[in-house]
Amino acid sequence: MKADPRDLVIVGAGPAGMAAAVEAARLGLAVTVVDEGQGPGGQVHRAILGGPLSTGGLGADYEGGRALAEAFVVCRAERSFETAAFMIERRPGGFTVAASGPAGARLIPTRALLIATGALERPFPIPGWTLPGVMTAGAAQTLLKTSAMAPEGPIVLAGTGPLLLLLAAQYARLGTNIEALLDTTPSGAARRALPFLPEFLASPYLRKGLAVLVEARRGGRIVRRVTALAAEGVERIEAVRFTARGRTERIAAQTLLLHQGVVPQVHLAMASGAEHRWCEERLAFEPTLTPDGETSVQGLYVAGDSGGIAGAEASALAGALAARAIARSLGRPAPDDRTLRRALDRARRGRRFLDAYYRPADAFRIPADDVIACRCEEVTAGAIRAAAQAGAQGPNQAKAFTRAGMGPCQGRLCALTVTAIMAQATGLPPDEIGHARLRPPVKPVTLGEIAALAGKD
Ligand SMILES: Cc1cc2nc3c(=O)[nH]c(=O)nc-3n(C[C@H](O)[C@H](O)[C@H](O)COP(=O)(O)OP(=O)(O)OC[C@H]3O[C@@H](n4cnc5c(N)ncnc54)[C@H](O)[C@@H]3O)c2cc1C
Repeated sequence: MKADPRDLVIVGAGPAGMAAAVEAARLGLAVTVVDEGQGPGGQVHRAILGGPLSTGGLGADYEGGRALAEAFVVCRAERSFETAAFMIERRPGGFTVAASGPAGARLIPTRALLIATGALERPFPIPGWTLPGVMTAGAAQTLLKTSAMAPEGPIVLAGTGPLLLLLAAQYARLGTNIEALLDTTPSGAARRALPFLPEFLASPYLRKGLAVLVEARRGGRIVRRVTALAAEGVERIEAVRFTARGRTERIAAQTLLLHQGVVPQVHLAMASGAEHRWCEERLAFEPTLTPDGETSVQGLYVAGDSGGIAGAEASALAGALAARAIARSLGRPAPDDRTLRRALDRARRGRRFLDAYYRPADAFRIPADDVIACRCEEVTAGAIRAAAQAGAQGPNQAKAFTRAGMGPCQGRLCALTVTAIMAQATGLPPDEIGHARLRPPVKPVTLGEIAALAGKD
């Protein structure tokens, strides 16, 4: 029997997805939310309901997500966790979402669709980054939120951006020592960010940032102006070698946590045909959106960090606004948006300063020839450069030349690096080079699950 279409399917139960679900359910829409995580919260509020540190230790911003998560779990939306949306197909009057969960894959027909899949950490390809013991700061923070655990020490943090400092502060608060934080924020950051200083001073980021910085300093040594970085070891990482202010040093490490900002997770929206553009300020591809969050595909909306990095508060507000727009498009009345829009403008204040200040250095974004760029297929930056010089027209031809981006991560960990290398090698702008073409399934799913869907829609 064919299922009746839902009014709205939301992919992702972070701040954007949760706020959208609460608002859409309140407006009377039949809503289904799928999230591949174990519960609500998304990246920022992961395990906020019942996690080991949900009542203390990770800070007010983390705990501030509890009210929204509690409203979400009692709202009249259907919720499916541990369920990954791997394909979206257009159908007359809407979409079909294919999602794989504990009971296998299923097809969910819907009139409208909201993608709220959040962000991914930007790739950080340095020599030795594929050694066991090297991971992202976000992964270590997930471990902290879900298990109250830190990886094996000595721990070195390296990179740039608020999340790296936040993790250092959270470790300090919980008594986990770090050996060093190697700050790769390039010189000239303050000059670049200066034009955006007035709005930053008027934003909550200043107060929060200073508090985090003070705590991060308590956790261990901070080394600034790091211009070269490598993980060294045989079976696993044993040391980190770095250069700061012209001096090279080697420190022992069992764990290296890398981070240089986050970028929109665009895979589902791109694979659904939504138009995306390169954003030079944020060095990432972003979907083209109306003020309500609708993409170039009618009825397909994106809210939160997957539409452009904006932070948790702005993501929740964008989710609620998208829910209202979707309700209106389905003929349901929705309240006036002016208050929400003003709040969204306030929540976005200060972002441009952060984007300019924490813009990662080219040296850590565009690796040297001998560095692995595509981890799954072990393709070096040199091989991708050679493909570009041999005439590969973009990441899709580079796939054919080198297999870069064809492994199980489907380019999640290398697509931006491949674009950056090819842009540098050819002198063409990243927008012209483009992003590796994404095709469903965008998440791993077994052939058996796909076969079992035959004839179900
Ligand atoms: C690793 C990491 C850690 C972060 N930690 C912090 C932090 O501590 N503090 C902070 O202020 N900001 C943090 N951020 C930034 C933060 O994610 C946001 O600003 C905010 O959470 C964005 O909210 P969102 O709802 O857009 O997305 P998210 O909160 O990221 O939620 C997206 C949700 O979508 C789900 N999802 C993704 N793809 C699929 C799919 N195909 N199928 C089903 N579900 C899917 C994910 O499981 C996730 O729950 C972090 C970002 C990352 C990448």
